[in-house]
Amino acid sequence: PLILGIETSCDETGIGIVRGQTLLADAVASSVDEHARFGGVVPEVASRAHLEAMVPTIRRACETAGVQLSDVDAVAVTSGPGLAGALLVGVAAAKGLALAIDKPLYGVNHLAAHVAVDTLEHGDLPKGCVAMLVSGGHSSLLAVEDITDGVLPMGSTIDDAAGEAFDKVARVLGLPFPGGPYVDKAARDGGDRLYVTFPRGLTSQRDLERHRFDFSFSGLKTAVARWVEARRRDGEDVPVNHVAAAFQEAVCDVLTRKAIDACKDRGYEHLLIGGGVAANSRLRQLAEERCTEAGIAVRVPRPGLCTDNGAMVAALGSELVRAGKSPSPLDLPADSSMPITMVVN
Ligand code: ATP
Ligand code: MG
Ligand code: FE
Repeated sequence: PLILGIETSCDETGIGIVRGQTLLADAVASSVDEHARFGGVVPEVASRAHLEAMVPTIRRACETAGVQLSDVDAVAVTSGPGLAGALLVGVAAAKGLALAIDKPLYGVNHLAAHVAVDTLEHGDLPKGCVAMLVSGGHSSLLAVEDITDGVLPMGSTIDDAAGEAFDKVARVLGLPFPGGPYVDKAARDGGDRLYVTFPRGLTSQRDLERHRFDFSFSGLKTAVARWVEARRRDGEDVPVNHVAAAFQEAVCDVLTRKAIDACKDRGYEHLLIGGGVAANSRLRQLAEERCTEAGIAVRVPRPGLCTDNGAMVAALGSELVRAGKSPSPLDLPADSSMPITMVVN
C-alpha cells in the first residue's frame, strides 16, 4: 500500500511517501532559519510556517514519488507529542486529505515514528530490541517487541534531553542554532575528546541503583558552561573544538554504555538508535564499536532520516497498515503530550 505521512510536531514540515518499506519521497521544508535569531523554536512562527509550506510540500513529495493524491491508500500524521499549534496544522491537513480521498487516517506517535523510520533503510525491525531515542525533546531507552503494539519505557532523562544539551552547549561556545550538527562538526575538526573529562551523569554506583537506565545532562551542560566561563575570566582563549569533542564524548559515553546495559538486561541482541542526535557521528562510531564488542547489532538510519521528517511518519503508518491496526477516528486530536506508550491515537 501507498502511505503518505505528514510531520509538523516542531519546525519541520515533512511529507513522506512510502510503498511498503520503500521510500518514494521525503520532502522537508524547515522554518529553522526563522527561529535562529531567537535561539530556539518560536511556536507561533512554526505554526504559520507549516500553514504556508503544507500544500507546496505535499505537491513536491507527490511529484518526486510520481504519484497522485488519489493513489494514496492511507494518510498518517504525527498526532503528538510536540507543539500544540504546530501539530494542529498537520492534523487538520491530514484529516482534510483523508476525507477528500476517502482513505483511512492514522494519527501516530512522533517518537515511535523516529524508531519505525529504520524499516525504510534496514527492513523489518528485529523481534525484540532496545530503541534508544535521542532527540531535541526526549532521551529514552525503550524495549520494543513490536513497534505497532507499543513500547515499554525502561528509562529516560530526568532533566535535559541529549539534543537540548547539545544545543545549549553550542550556545555557550558561540556556535549557531540548532547546535547539535555544529558541535559534531567542531569536534570532528581536530577536537581532542580527552582534553577535559566532563561529568558522566547518573553513572555512579549509587545513582545506578535508582537510575540504571535514566540519563541526566543538565549537570554536564553546567559543567561545560563553568569551564568555559572560567577560561574567559582568565582572559584565555576557549578551545572550541576540544570542548565540543570532550562534551560530545561525555554524552556519547553515557548513552552507549546505558543502551548496551539495557540490551543485556532484556536479553536483546539488537540496538536501534533514533532521533536527531542519532545523526551524531561520534555516537554512531562509539555505538558501533562498543556494540560489536558486546555482540550486539546496531541499527541507525542514515543521518537525514534521524532528524524530523515525513518519511518516518509514513513508515510507521505503513507498519500499522501491514499489521492490520485500526485507523484513527476523524476527530483525532493534536495531542501535545501524547505518551510514549501510545503508538496510534
Ligand atoms: P522530539 O523528537 O523529541 O520531539 P525534535 O523533533 O525537536 O524533538 P529532532 O529533529 O528529532 O528533535 O532532533 C533535533 C535535535 O537533534 C536537536 O537538538 C539537534 O541539535 C540534534 N542534532 C541534530 N544533528 C545532530 C548531530 N549531528 N549531533 C548532535 N545532535 C544533533
Ligand atoms: Mg527541527
Ligand atoms: Fe523528533
